[in-house]
Amino acid sequence: MATINEALEKLEKSRFRSSFKLSKKDIEYIRDKGMDVVRSHARDFVAKKLAPAFPENDGKQTPMHGHPAFKAMHACGCCCRGCLNKWFKVSAGKPLTHLQQEKIVNLLVAWMERQMSKI
Ligand SMILES: [Zn+2]
Repeated sequence: MATINEALEKLEKSRFRSSFKLSKKDIEYIRDKGMDVVRSHARDFVAKKLAPAFPENDGKQTPMHGHPAFKAMHACGCCCRGCLNKWFKVSAGKPLTHLQQEKIVNLLVAWMERQMSKI
């Protein structure tokens, strides 16, 4: 994976990926809970939805809304193993390492922070 800024810049050039934005509700949720709590949720989502070698429902496991981290996962190309492979050359059929999971979580948090700073 490239650096976080490089990854975010690349994602911004995709019309589809850059169409995802935090809603007012998402922003209020992050302000209310704090980014540390949201980060721990993101970590759980990545561990459950992306980390297994063959995630359940792969391709459809990430809702489009309901939590700001879900938006971040779509915006960052981290919604399923197919997108992870396409965007970050993460090979399918192998569990994600702890380091890979943390890199994804850092990217998701950086995207959310960027969105928050645009308000
Ligand atoms: Zn996907």
